[in-house]
Amino acid sequence: MQVEYGFEPLQNCQCSTCAVHNESSCIIEKTQGLKFTTCSSTPEPEQVEAIYCSAQKGKSSCSDLATDKACMCPTCSVWWSHTLKTGYFCGNGPAS
Ligand code: SF4
Ligand code: SF4
Repeated sequence: MQVEYGFEPLQNCQCSTCAVHNESSCIIEKTQGLKFTTCSSTPEPEQVEAIYCSAQKGKSSCSDLATDKACMCPTCSVWWSHTLKTGYFCGNGPAS
């Protein structure tokens, strides 16, 4: 099931707890440890490093993801509510 980009799933996204994401120097530099690169409560997809499963966000522009580490998507309520079956959306692109 496709995931729609929005603030609620963004809040529930577990990517910020994930080593694949947190060990990326590129993502750390962009976000300084936060999910958003803006103070806005309605950030544009290009202003977040999260919810990569959504069609509007898709995969990260960073190429140094630690994809040998475990994806945390199966711990996420968005993953369960959309009956997603896969993970690593940050590198593979959005759920279909
Ligand atoms: S399924 Fe994965 S990418 Fe999608 S919101 Fe949850 S943790 Fe983030
Ligand atoms: S999509 Fe999965 S592997 Fe990528 S940062 Fe989110 S939880 Fe980690």
